Amino acid sequence: MKLARLGEFGLIDRIRRIVGEGSEGVVFGIGDDAAVFRPRPGWLTVLTTDALVEGVHFDLRYAPIESVGWKALAINLSDVVSMGGLPRYGVVSMALPGSWRVEDVESLYRGMMRCGKAYGCTLVGGDTVRSQKGGFLSVTVVGEVEEERVVGRDGAREGDLLCVIGELGGSGVGLEVLSSGGDRGRFPSSVERFLEPKVRLREARWLVADLGVSSMIDISDGLSSEIGHLCQQSGLGCLVWEEKIPLTEEVVLWAEEQGKPLSTYALESGEEYELLFTIERSRCESWRNQKKDSKDLHINVIGVMTRKEDGMRVMRDGKSFDLSPGGWDHFYR
Ligand code: ADP
Ligand code: MG
Repeated sequence: MKLARLGEFGLIDRIRRIVGEGSEGVVFGIGDDAAVFRPRPGWLTVLTTDALVEGVHFDLRYAPIESVGWKALAINLSDVVSMGGLPRYGVVSMALPGSWRVEDVESLYRGMMRCGKAYGCTLVGGDTVRSQKGGFLSVTVVGEVEEERVVGRDGAREGDLLCVIGELGGSGVGLEVLSSGGDRGRFPSSVERFLEPKVRLREARWLVADLGVSSMIDISDGLSSEIGHLCQQSGLGCLVWEEKIPLTEEVVLWAEEQGKPLSTYALESGEEYELLFTIERSRCESWRNQKKDSKDLHINVIGVMTRKEDGMRVMRDGKSFDLSPGGWDHFYR
């Protein structure tokens, strides 16, 4: 059924059926003028929002709408998580063309619900309006973090190690495989990473609680760009060893087939949603000695923070180059 036939309130009713009654802590959810929830005493509140525009952030020619729902929420959860926090509640505003089908919106919400359930975030409201052309989604998430665990982009110190959790490049490959009509069956984890990125909640909580990382950011625009943010906001430079940047086998295979340099995927692939962080060298070493490194929580040291005057540098094949922030910039392309 077309949205234009069902109307705003009918649609909100359908959404409400999918979202359900909310969770513990929700005093008022969907259905009132505003959502009301009970904060945890002693915790700081984290608030973030991200918008997705059809044709810019998602393309329904190759992204299933349920995955768009997952991703719309996941990218917000990732922002809360990279501050060290736990996501709690979300609201979703959308502008939709009347030509969209009701079933599409239901799929969108099923994707969001799956993601919310996976990471403990409850949908408690939103707004629904009509657009003239193309879909537009704006998701806002509120989360919480203990005062002693909150971590920003500005806490890195000279000599700290620069590290990532997880392997990079997959999302960039996934996008290229999908948009070029490539064989998705040969690059399943890349396609999955691009369509429904995991949120590194467990890992981030472990990094702030057990390791005491000094700064942290999620990789949404591309590694070089995020490193640039850490350097700028911490007032430092860096030296990155390019061959230490962990890439998946699929990335290596795809780059080879496309005749593209691995650097592009290592440094510029966006929407990875892995964690980039800095940690004092001695903390990292004492943790290594305790052999806490487990297979699914492997820390990859990719560089070191240096003085601002040294600039941002990358070592490749034994030579050092300027590390210029590449990757995704909305107004730059
Ligand atoms: P108001 O006129 O007060 O803004 P609305 O009619 O926009 O109220 O919304 C009614 C209820 O439905 C509110 O609780 C709102 O949060 C919820 N709601 C509206 N759109 C959405 C949506 N897209 N997703 C989830 N909840 C929604
Ligand atoms: Mg409204």
